[in-house]
Amino acid sequence: MANNEESRGLKSLLDWFANRRKSGSIIQERQEREIADGLWHKCSECSVLTYTKDLKANQMVCVECGHHNRVDSDERIRQLTDAKTWSPMDEHLRPTDPLQFRDRKPYIDRLREMQEKIGLVEAVQTGLGQINGLPIALGVMDFRFIGASMGSVVGEKLTRLIEQATQRRYPVVIICTSGGARMQEGMLSLMQMAKVSAALQLHREARLLYIPVLTNPTTGGVTASFAMLGDIILAEPKATIGFAGRRVIEQTLREKLPEDFQTAEDLLKHGFVDEIVPRTQLKQTLTQLIALHQQPTLNTTHSMVMWETRALSSSAVDA
Ligand SMILES: [Zn+2]
Repeated sequence: MANNEESRGLKSLLDWFANRRKSGSIIQERQEREIADGLWHKCSECSVLTYTKDLKANQMVCVECGHHNRVDSDERIRQLTDAKTWSPMDEHLRPTDPLQFRDRKPYIDRLREMQEKIGLVEAVQTGLGQINGLPIALGVMDFRFIGASMGSVVGEKLTRLIEQATQRRYPVVIICTSGGARMQEGMLSLMQMAKVSAALQLHREARLLYIPVLTNPTTGGVTASFAMLGDIILAEPKATIGFAGRRVIEQTLREKLPEDFQTAEDLLKHGFVDEIVPRTQLKQTLTQLIALHQQPTLNTTHSMVMWETRALSSSAVDA
């Protein structure tokens, strides 16, 4: 009798464990499905699950650990420009395949696939807009498009943006990210570095402000040209910024590089970057820098006062 009761008790205990394991796996399955559906986001740094809507509201910065997730160019334009002020430029410029390049697949097919997949014709969006009421010429690179490599169209669009800004006396802001030159366009890709740099020199001679914002990752030919030519160079926290890759340098030097090598923080320490600005403060910081560097006209004074009032009222809300 006692044995019977004992075995019944043991059985129900085993059932309880089995059920628990089953419901645990159901919960996990549901979580995984919801992550796949895009409802939840698992942070690649701290593994904390965040409701995607909350993450988007925080500009894709992890609320738990501050990890900056990559954002596409559309989202970036929304984050930085005032509503309904964005006016895109040179959207008709399309890449061609002058070398008829082919690696694992023909370059022309790669381009077409990219354009269909992400709905952009090239790796940069350029245009004019306003940031807290101040006019800017803005270029935003998009890493999804062949690693935001700098092909002829990327260089041409940025050059035209800078030329337009010089004519209108607008400041230029370029949100940089890039894997480097577009090898499929060979020499034509490398020439973009000189072309964009020359346009920036004219912008500079007109005593106008240029601010590159280095985001993760900014490497290769972009670092070797317009990313490093800013009057004030900003970077996002923990962004990888460099010219050659870490592995290549380690193999060449035959020595181990420090852990924080090629990070925004290391570059700030060595004077290559002027300030590291979290994405959630980027619009405010840019506005402040642009307002401070405008020519002292009545309009500027007015917009500075407007901006200061707005900044003060928002900090009052924060407090
Ligand atoms: Zn996190």
